[in-house]
Amino acid sequence: MNNINILIIEDEKKISTIMKSYFEKEGYNVLQAFDGKEGLELFNNNEVDLIILDLMLPKLPGEEVIKEIRNKSDLPIIMVSAKVEEDNRVEGLRLGADDYVTKPFSPKELVERVKAVLRRIEKYNIPRADIIKTSDGRLEMDLQYNRIFKDGKEVLLTKNEFQILKTIFSSPNKIFSRDEIIALTFGYDYDAYDRAIDTHIKNIRSKIEDNPKRPAYIKTIYGMGYKSGGVDDYIKE
Ligand code: CA
Repeated sequence: MNNINILIIEDEKKISTIMKSYFEKEGYNVLQAFDGKEGLELFNNNEVDLIILDLMLPKLPGEEVIKEIRNKSDLPIIMVSAKVEEDNRVEGLRLGADDYVTKPFSPKELVERVKAVLRRIEKYNIPRADIIKTSDGRLEMDLQYNRIFKDGKEVLLTKNEFQILKTIFSSPNKIFSRDEIIALTFGYDYDAYDRAIDTHIKNIRSKIEDNPKRPAYIKTIYGMGYKSGGVDDYIKE
């Protein structure tokens, strides 16, 4: 189990079932919707990480589904469409879909596309939600407006401090070396000393922690680096 939830929105039951079995073989969790409306309902009521979306759908066309989802989330959407639907596909990409496969497609190819999209997200550390909350509910990072709140009160971080915290919180289960924090936050060319990160972390802690000497939100992992504390996963808003 890799804890990634894929929502398949596809009205052709046979195709949906084939996709489902391929994804499950790879360890993904699968939700199925058979029309556009049901797709949106499942999206609204579940933690969905990626959507496979057919464009020609009953009740609500795929393009409308993309629009609705993009109002709320940046999660990856991969369209599946027949060749004859090229205009729809272009429209879908314009509306914010990430990729597409053309019917008939090989399920293996689709699985590879999904993996590639998920890798891309991980690599560039693109947050999957606009708000990151710690599980105690006290810290809230607004990634859209670059603001952070503790107990509802705004905390003023410098730009660098904010970006560093965002890097660490964006992969809650990862231990980051200092080099990785620099690379992921500022890019590989950034000329920073490892120890500069320690200073930033110290300053961030003094602003967000109850007791900076016993930090709850940024843990020091000795000999390795830093890891987030108290961030389960993204809370989608
Ligand atoms: Ca269809």
